[in-house]
Amino acid sequence: MPLMDSWIADRTRNFDSSGIRRMFDLAAKMDDPINLSIGQPDFDVPQPIKDRMVEAVEDGFNGYALTQGIPTLREKLQAEIDIEYGDPDRKVFVCSGTSGGLFLSALSMINPGDEVIFFDPYFVMYPALVELVGGVPVKLSTYPDFQIDLEKLEEAITDRTKMIIVNSPSNPTGVCYSEEVVQEVAELAERKGICLVSDEIYSRFSMDDRHLSPASYNKSTVVIDGFSKTYAMTGWRVGYVHGPSEIIDTMIKIQQYTFVCAPHPAQVASVKAMDIDITPYIDTYRQRRDFMVEELKNHYDIVKPGGAFYLFPKLPWGTGQEFVERAIKNNLMVIPGSIFSDHDTHFRISYAVDEAMLERGIEVLKRIVTR
Ligand code: PMP
Repeated sequence: MPLMDSWIADRTRNFDSSGIRRMFDLAAKMDDPINLSIGQPDFDVPQPIKDRMVEAVEDGFNGYALTQGIPTLREKLQAEIDIEYGDPDRKVFVCSGTSGGLFLSALSMINPGDEVIFFDPYFVMYPALVELVGGVPVKLSTYPDFQIDLEKLEEAITDRTKMIIVNSPSNPTGVCYSEEVVQEVAELAERKGICLVSDEIYSRFSMDDRHLSPASYNKSTVVIDGFSKTYAMTGWRVGYVHGPSEIIDTMIKIQQYTFVCAPHPAQVASVKAMDIDITPYIDTYRQRRDFMVEELKNHYDIVKPGGAFYLFPKLPWGTGQEFVERAIKNNLMVIPGSIFSDHDTHFRISYAVDEAMLERGIEVLKRIVTR
């Protein structure tokens, strides 16, 4: 075995990101692609938030922040959380993006051999996250409607089940769990004494109904949210976690030894962000969703999503790779569902692009629906 290879830790050996890399290699050769593969908003960070970021840097907020987050941001988030949940033991801290929060919850709670249930299709990070800490990923299929089947969930629970991760609105399907499902999953986790982690990064992108968190039904739920998508500041790395104080204190302790803190000036700007009304952006995304579903529904099999900015249609023919290669030949970038799933039956479209690009995308999608 060559020396370098022997340096690679066993826990990272099985990770495979070649599927995504192949896509990006292909896409790099495209000229003015119709890019419906992007997982972040297309609007820019609203100007008052940018101004506050610049001011914060100028004013010298450039050193370490308190591990748990700057007091102004933490207090503002805590006040919102207190109003929403009214639970004196629910505590918040600021982390380095939602990804940071997810990683800290895994580090803080999963022991080697612990089983972690999440739902297929899933956000790409979940299986990697669980394996990195020695946990065992247990993927439960939600095809074809992408809702959680309570009976299946209950059957999958063993005495090794430590955690259930839910994500609504979901990446990659855009589907929101129904109120009934949210409540049932929350109560099941509570009854079984299993930690429920709720990834709510797309909570503001709920198009039809007000976002509903399982924390409303199960006060031990660990909620992970962030500023990345809501204010289009994915590169600024600010997220937050709220949950029972004992768990949050453990996560803060681990943050001290890993991320240290979320970027200080970005935290200052996030205080400003909380005053910005993003309703006009959400209205635009809702219109785009409706437009896309209307245009494609007679050509593709699509579950109309309630949020995020994704559609997850069924492949009309072939494998994901074959279909996506055909799309790329037609200058269109979409992502094969197998990146997010053990099934190779769907593909992801992001509609976080302007209407002209969507129209070009629809034209190609209609053209390539037959082999
Ligand atoms: N969870 C989900 C479901 C996501 O789609 C993403 C971003 N693609 C994240 C977490 C990570 O977001 P952040 O930028 O806050 O780390």
